Amino acid sequence: MQKTKYIFITGGVSSSLGKGVTVAALGTLLESRGYSVSLQKMDPYINVDPGTMSPYQHGEVYVTDDGAETDLDLGYYERFTHSKLTRKNSVSTGQIYHAVIERERKGDYLGRTVQVVPHITNEIRNRIYTLSRENETDFVIVEIGGTVGDIESVPFLEAIRQMRYEHGATQVLFIHLTLVPTITAAGEAKTKPTQHSVKELLAIGIQPDILICRIQKKLSQEMKNKISLFCNVKEENVISATDITTSIYEIPQMYREEKLDEVVLKVLGMDMKKLNFSKWEQLVHTIRNPKKVVRIALIGKYISLQDAYRSVYEALSHGGIANQASVEVTKLNPEDITKANVKELLKNIHGILVPGGFGERGIEGKVVAIHYARTKKIPFLGICLGMQCAVIEFARNELGMKDANSTEFNPKSEYPVISMIEEQTEIEQMGGTMRLGAYPCRLQKGSLVQQEYKLEKVSERHRHRFEFTLRFKDAFEKKGMKISGTSPDQDLVEVVEVPNHPWFIGVQFHPEFMSKPTKPHPLFVGLVRESIKLIKKGE
Ligand code: GLN
Repeated sequence: MQKTKYIFITGGVSSSLGKGVTVAALGTLLESRGYSVSLQKMDPYINVDPGTMSPYQHGEVYVTDDGAETDLDLGYYERFTHSKLTRKNSVSTGQIYHAVIERERKGDYLGRTVQVVPHITNEIRNRIYTLSRENETDFVIVEIGGTVGDIESVPFLEAIRQMRYEHGATQVLFIHLTLVPTITAAGEAKTKPTQHSVKELLAIGIQPDILICRIQKKLSQEMKNKISLFCNVKEENVISATDITTSIYEIPQMYREEKLDEVVLKVLGMDMKKLNFSKWEQLVHTIRNPKKVVRIALIGKYISLQDAYRSVYEALSHGGIANQASVEVTKLNPEDITKANVKELLKNIHGILVPGGFGERGIEGKVVAIHYARTKKIPFLGICLGMQCAVIEFARNELGMKDANSTEFNPKSEYPVISMIEEQTEIEQMGGTMRLGAYPCRLQKGSLVQQEYKLEKVSERHRHRFEFTLRFKDAFEKKGMKISGTSPDQDLVEVVEVPNHPWFIGVQFHPEFMSKPTKPHPLFVGLVRESIKLIKKGE
């Protein structure tokens, strides 16, 4: 077997240049050439994982099958490729130091001084090698988080420098993603920041092989020439990454047109296998030519930050792709929703989604909106906390349990319809008591959810502490709420539905993590399909 090739992607000049999506899109292209890829993210922060970070700080926490709480870039990796992701694909400085210090305490270093080089850098390298050993893919593509010049990234850069030195230029490739800003007044694109950023890399001993330049309009030949000369990078290896217009799923195509795949294979001396890219081209065509526009309200408290519900937005767009529709998301803060204004706020909406979340803020507004969705027969999908709120709403308004609540919000409620299986309220255990990762779920034959999946047993990812309280199950079922999905032992409620409604589903798990543009999740497909039915003539 051919030896695994390592591709490292660093970022320069500025953050938020789309490194994660670039890694994912390169994965798409190499897979389209018949190669297999594994993708990995190195995060320079000291947190062990983002599980305890606020969504405002870090965007959503992405959950893998094996229950790792990871960076949202892993979501892009999964949506764009077939790369199998586990906790090993997400590495942070915190994890690296944690492992090294644990070993030091056990005496494994036999009295030696433990240092950044070689102990920390070896641990970083081991994490990369583990991935290639276990997956045996043709490529391991590693995203180095942060921006070159940050103090925190230095050990990671040193580790990959060593790898290049040891394995050589035909096995280790460096790509640097950088910004070429356009100065509005002069109307000119400037290459100097890129030159400086490459200089910074060179000082660490890394000479990039390929430069990807984020720029408003494509680089001119003259600019490529200049960048090439100043940065020691072949002209043909200087690539433009222009802003895309409609959807991030255009990015693989944009890089295809720039021949990124060809350049990478050429530099590494690999076969230019036949390209099979029509699926993605078809996808982009569908996205660019929607037949309808459907408006779905997303009701969540982190709406001001696009990344906080990243996978949900993506999954909605996939639901749109499956229905040849463009999904316009109307973001509503539940704290602004009251019984008095709910009708007005939701008047132009075709479907409603309440995503996951933690903490009491906004709960009452969500309950009001869910009541509206249920009684006005608007398609509704409740995810995790959204499902729990649907249960609370039904209890209060159909079962007469006026103060029904989750013990997360009111531990003294007379009707704790959502509660913890075990009382684990020790704050020290934060991040450790959650039900995380993929679990099987049995769907009731003939239920709405079973018809959407066309399966009776599914596996979905979880991230929650609280559950439907089983002793209330009969009371709910008597009033018509259907428990249409449970854990195989039937101890945990996974899905609820309501009768006399075209499409109302609450799920305790997170279907958004399993949706891909090339394989939209059935529940998002269903939500969008039913919402489209509410589009009025002439809209
Ligand atoms: N806060 C709720 C729980 O812990 C819901 C979690 C979520 O929506 N991810 O169970």
